[in-house]
Amino acid sequence: MTDKRNAARRGATKAGAKRPSIPGRLRAPDGAAPNPRGASDAAKLAALTAERAAARAASGDIAKRPDISAFPADETYDPECTRCPRLASFLAESHAKYPSYWCRPVPAFGAAEPRIVIVGLAPGMQGANRTARPFTGDYAGVLLYQTLHDLGLASQPTSVSYDDPLRLINTRIVNAVKCVPPENKPLPDEIRRCNDFLRAEIAKLKSARVYVALGRIAHDAFLSAMDLKRSKFVFGHAAEHPLGQARHLIDSYHCSRYNTQTRRLTPEMFKTVLSRACKLAGL
Ligand code: SF4
Repeated sequence: MTDKRNAARRGATKAGAKRPSIPGRLRAPDGAAPNPRGASDAAKLAALTAERAAARAASGDIAKRPDISAFPADETYDPECTRCPRLASFLAESHAKYPSYWCRPVPAFGAAEPRIVIVGLAPGMQGANRTARPFTGDYAGVLLYQTLHDLGLASQPTSVSYDDPLRLINTRIVNAVKCVPPENKPLPDEIRRCNDFLRAEIAKLKSARVYVALGRIAHDAFLSAMDLKRSKFVFGHAAEHPLGQARHLIDSYHCSRYNTQTRRLTPEMFKTVLSRACKLAGL
């Protein structure tokens, strides 16, 4: 961390705030600036986050860790799960470093009876791991929520915190792994353990017609949860896989900061996949 950021952080601590400054939170852990194409969306997110922080500060509600009572356990999710020792240790270390972050398994988010289920990889350290909502608070969610809103699947184009007014329409987001992994890389054992939750979630979502896998790991985790063979369903961006009973799996490159900055995934490519998902889902 630079001297400047350290100074900013010391200033915040003196003032009683536990989170780092807003500009710090909006930058990726590597400190790289957002690309010009995503700059306006990132700016919108920054403005919204700043507005919300100001409102919280005015009401005396400054940067609190999300309350665990708002996240009940069931067969699809356990906010206190520690089945993966490496991830449980990493969460404990993260909580010590960032006391106001969620730092627990992150639940699914969205419609209770969705037609479209989006399967992501795992929470990001400064995103879902902080806010307790998938794809919320870091760069990966900017393109996702903007695109969902453009297609009428989200009530607003940005997701700021687990308790903001955003609603997903006919859509639900789940992750293959519910705890933030070091360097965004879950181990095969961790993906396997968390697959019990994904399996239970998919079994429960009987209304789903289309599953959108964001990246190869999500694709493989989805197949495991459905007891489907990988050799019959090869991952590829925009690849469509009929599953029978009018259900489909569609693949997309993950909407990560890396993929969007390198233009491996453009906003147009992503919108095309989700538009196709809407069509197949009858929306
Ligand atoms: S990744 Fe899943 S199985 Fe592993 S500790 Fe987290 S919630 Fe539990």
